[in-house]
Amino acid sequence: MADRRDFLKASLLGASALAVASQTSTVRAASKSAAGARVISTWDFGIAANQAAWSVLAQGGHALDAVETGVMVPEADLKNHSVGRAGYPDRDGHVSLDASIMDADGSCGAVAALEHIAHPIQVARRVMERTPHVLLVGEGALQFALEQGFKKEELLTPESEAAWKEWLKTAQYQPSVNSEVHDYGKTGIPGGKGNHDTIGMLAIDAQGRLAGACTTSGMAWKLRGRVGDSPIIGAGLYVDGEVGAATSTGVGEEVIRNAGSFLVVELMRQGRTPQEACREAVMRIVKKRPNASKDLQVGFLAMNRHGEVGAFAIQPGFSYAVCDAGRQDGLVPAKSVY
Ligand code: ASP
Repeated sequence: MADRRDFLKASLLGASALAVASQTSTVRAASKSAAGARVISTWDFGIAANQAAWSVLAQGGHALDAVETGVMVPEADLKNHSVGRAGYPDRDGHVSLDASIMDADGSCGAVAALEHIAHPIQVARRVMERTPHVLLVGEGALQFALEQGFKKEELLTPESEAAWKEWLKTAQYQPSVNSEVHDYGKTGIPGGKGNHDTIGMLAIDAQGRLAGACTTSGMAWKLRGRVGDSPIIGAGLYVDGEVGAATSTGVGEEVIRNAGSFLVVELMRQGRTPQEACREAVMRIVKKRPNASKDLQVGFLAMNRHGEVGAFAIQPGFSYAVCDAGRQDGLVPAKSVY
């Protein structure tokens, strides 16, 4: 519709007049059409991701397109060693990626242990839209991606390879708390640091549609074939347009054990605020494994169908980025158990 209007104006006004007119109308249209839209995502690298998502929401775009566009930013970021290209590899040196995407009506798609494809979130969306399935893994996921026209690439960068070789010297696998914060942008961290990281992103668009996306290279130095929570619908991501959406970051095994994101959404359905729901899901993890929980991080992030947001984590240090018509780069520290 907007394109058609612009075309008609062009024939009437001429090119230069159109440039001014369409600029003004784009700004007006953006602020008007973005009212009520909001995007949130995990960790400080979520700020840049949110801004990419916002470019979709500000045009009145669909939440599903926004989250896909948004999480592609850290997937492509060579300084981010735990999402997409340049992600730290598994124990055997393979970069293997997990991702999922979900729409408000329950449509969803995911890939797990996918190698050689730079944007697993795009493949997850293709699984959702072009197959009768929800989750493709490993070789089959790669085969599907190649059939869909994605390019096979080497995702292990020299920097990530060097970090892996350094780790091999001690080969101690020990997931650490908030590696996202400590290690982001650093190189060559041997075992114990940089073990895990994820971007989970939730958005509501101006029409009130919710969607979510989650993508990660999972825990660094993981066993080959290990799959975390991020591509498991209900664990790392869940969206129900009638209630809200949730996503998680941290030690995926703990999130899977408790169907974490599904639990958060169900708690919101029962009347909890997003933060209360995240807190209760975190407490479920802590209650089941009180000793282990002292040393591990899990954070949940949630948004209800009104666009209200909240988060909670086991350990301090988890933050999430918020972007809406009022703020483009807000970073909010989440409350935590300890
Ligand atoms: N949740 C991710 C996984 O377990 C990693 C993380 O967020 O730290 O694969």
